[in-house]
Amino acid sequence: MDSIREKAYAKLNISLDVTERRTDGFHDMCMVMQTVSICDELELRPTDTGRVQVKSNFSFIPGDERNLAAKAALGFFEAVGKQGQGLLITLQKSIPVGAGMAGGSADAAAVLRALNRLYGAPLTADALETLAARVGSDVPFCVRGGTALATGRGEKLETLPSLPACKFVVCKPDFSISTPELFRKLDQTGLRCHPDTAGILAALRDGELEPVARRMYNVFEEVDDRRLRTVREIKSVLLDCGALGAIMTGTGSAVFGVFRPDADCSAAVAALRAEHGFCREAVGVDRLL
Ligand code: ATP
Repeated sequence: MDSIREKAYAKLNISLDVTERRTDGFHDMCMVMQTVSICDELELRPTDTGRVQVKSNFSFIPGDERNLAAKAALGFFEAVGKQGQGLLITLQKSIPVGAGMAGGSADAAAVLRALNRLYGAPLTADALETLAARVGSDVPFCVRGGTALATGRGEKLETLPSLPACKFVVCKPDFSISTPELFRKLDQTGLRCHPDTAGILAALRDGELEPVARRMYNVFEEVDDRRLRTVREIKSVLLDCGALGAIMTGTGSAVFGVFRPDADCSAAVAALRAEHGFCREAVGVDRLL
């Protein structure tokens, strides 16, 4: 059987709210998510090794089933009765790791979309998203893509009107922030503010960029952590360079600004790239499935 290629697009949080701490220890979330053009490139080649293996240009990420791309492939083969099918996944990563851009989840989602295509669509879109939720909370959104409201642990999705045309500038400083650590700190300090999610949804329905950008808010930025000082510095640069709004995505550490589609973002990119490891321009990507 031939190999197949697929792109794994990163996500950004237009908003992130934590609405409740559940009795099972997980938190209920309410997030407006957006797929963006920064992406990893995957090649999937069925093999007769009987194993699912991952090779990547990032040597530090796992090559076995701890890699979400492999976990997704194993889940897919089980769901379609092909246990023991061998697969080599070659992963060319561009999405920074530990950035809050769902890099691992995007790779897993790309594997699910690609395998379903390769094997003649044995799973419906709904079945693919149900399988995705077993791989990870962000994976269903990454399978579907576009602009969506994600609730529950992030796996319950409602597709929203596309974000009006805009540019993003995304900067990832040279550190990552551990997700469990941020949740722990959030539980200790509690929350004073919440994003105006209803206002964002109304602005999306009206097709208005500025009211969306003005309302962008991530509750994790309130947490008491000295690394968030760098996040605030990056936001200031983005806003000084003309961003309509700027926030941290997910549990960080990447920060992004939203600019008008005709804005010249080169000053922001140059300033942030000189100071931090990763800074790229991106645009929104519509629904994938
Ligand atoms: P999220 O936004 O979902 O919190 P993140 O961007 O913060 O994700 P990832 O880049 O997905 O984080 O990676 C977090 C961890 O997951 C890394 O420590 C890495 O070892 C592991 N991992 C598993 N599979 C992958 C993958 N395909 N790509 C990158 N990291 C992966």
